[in-house]
Amino acid sequence: MASAGIVYLVGAGPGDLGLVTFRARELIASADVLVYDYLVHPDLVSWCASECEVVYVGKKAGFHSVPQAEIEALLVDRAKAGKRVVRLKGGDPYVFGRGGEEARALAADGIRFEVVPGVTAALAAGAYAGIPLTHRNTSSSLVLVTGHEDPNKHELQVDWPALGALRNTTLAIYMGMSRLADIMAGLQKGGLAADTPAAVVQWASLGRQRSVTATVGTLVEAVAEAGLKAPSIIFVGDVVLHQETVDWFEHLSLFGRRIAITRTRGGNSGLREKLEHLGAEVVELPLINVVPDVHRESLIEIVSELGSYDWIVFTSANGVNIFFEQFAKAYDDVRALGLLRFACVGEATARAVRSRWLKVECQPEIATADALADALIATDSLDSAKVIVVTGNRNRETLVKRLEEEGRAIVDVLPLYRTEKLDLSENPAAHDFREKGADAILFASSSAVEAFTAQAKALALEDGAKRPLAGSIGPQTSDTMKQLGMPIAFEAKKPGLDDLVAALVARLAKD
Ligand code: SAH
Repeated sequence: MASAGIVYLVGAGPGDLGLVTFRARELIASADVLVYDYLVHPDLVSWCASECEVVYVGKKAGFHSVPQAEIEALLVDRAKAGKRVVRLKGGDPYVFGRGGEEARALAADGIRFEVVPGVTAALAAGAYAGIPLTHRNTSSSLVLVTGHEDPNKHELQVDWPALGALRNTTLAIYMGMSRLADIMAGLQKGGLAADTPAAVVQWASLGRQRSVTATVGTLVEAVAEAGLKAPSIIFVGDVVLHQETVDWFEHLSLFGRRIAITRTRGGNSGLREKLEHLGAEVVELPLINVVPDVHRESLIEIVSELGSYDWIVFTSANGVNIFFEQFAKAYDDVRALGLLRFACVGEATARAVRSRWLKVECQPEIATADALADALIATDSLDSAKVIVVTGNRNRETLVKRLEEEGRAIVDVLPLYRTEKLDLSENPAAHDFREKGADAILFASSSAVEAFTAQAKALALEDGAKRPLAGSIGPQTSDTMKQLGMPIAFEAKKPGLDDLVAALVARLAKD
């Protein structure tokens, strides 16, 4: 009997999350099993469901990757058990990704499979390093070729002199860094002039991208000097000459900078994207974990009478998300919210409300609990009004007290979640931060500063790591930083993410 299982061989693109296809994202979200390797952006893994089985088969420091036969056996086994398996591969699965072998193994076992292409590394390296891969006057063909050859294995040998004899061609060489000198010599043997332009692009499309431009004769030396290693694409051909005029990525204002940010809430602030769009390499430190922790009795009491309340107040996007999950369990019609008005502490929280087609009627200019109390009191609508304040385990007493005493509101507190300190010992982002540090670290709230300080030990920089300049989103956050003894290198002109990023760019430009 044919099983209902299926395997998707999916290209994950070259690194930048924006270059992943919609289809890939959809399949990751609906996978029962996700098998991925080195070069796949770790954030992709967070797109899968919490019950999805996640298997890493890539290289680990000091270890080899899982043997190919074992990976194939794993795919077959899970598919036979009726699972939807997503096999994620960097770039495109059929370009030097051994996707062909996996597809054959699946076909041999009678397992259903589909293939989803991805942006292969050479295309990304060309686009992000300013090297058009073909050009009307200089290059009319593009060769994707592997430089990795093991003479002890029965693999096809690449005929480098034959490739060196081609004219008007761009060569894009994958996995060639350890044999760079041999490859350049082989091409010249075939007649390729030593002054033919050549380039290497490492970590294409990511903030840590580096590239060098030289010639076939000088590339080895240039690469050694710049310290470039794998994963890199080597380009050979006249198209490399266009780099100076058409490069855009490496000219971005934060290109080459490592910026650490904190992730203290489930809500996505969009800060990462803003920094990446300016070319930065972003290290996102997850400091706390938000766990739904619903107080049953108050929930039942409040939710059953939702229509009788005037305001609901949210101080985090998590609160919004968990509230609506609970709401959906009790009602199947959004109109059960009645005439409830929404108040939110800041932009990320407000966005979570607006994404449900609900209007936020009160949001203070600065995202603090006190400013939120001020804004609510200023609406002059609180006298005898019934107000729900959704909270976590952080203390919201002053907010509640002020609404009751100054606004004369009737406040019910609805605790829905709690935050826990995350264990950072094995966390890859924390490891990366300890090892290399960063040019700057941005704090977008007092709670982020507190969470960071609470994790100071787990984030202690190793010798040689770069000590980051600390930036603050506004006066409140700066106060907390001062109280905790953290020197402030820059502060946003007006509290807000865009101004925080502007202050960062201005500060780094001085170095
Ligand atoms: N299937 C992948 C290639 C896997 S082979 C694809 O289609 O891109 C691994 C090689 O790909 C690396 O040695 C390097 O040559 C290249 N590579 C993958 N990601 C890269 C990146 N972001 N920048 C530069 N080269 C990359």
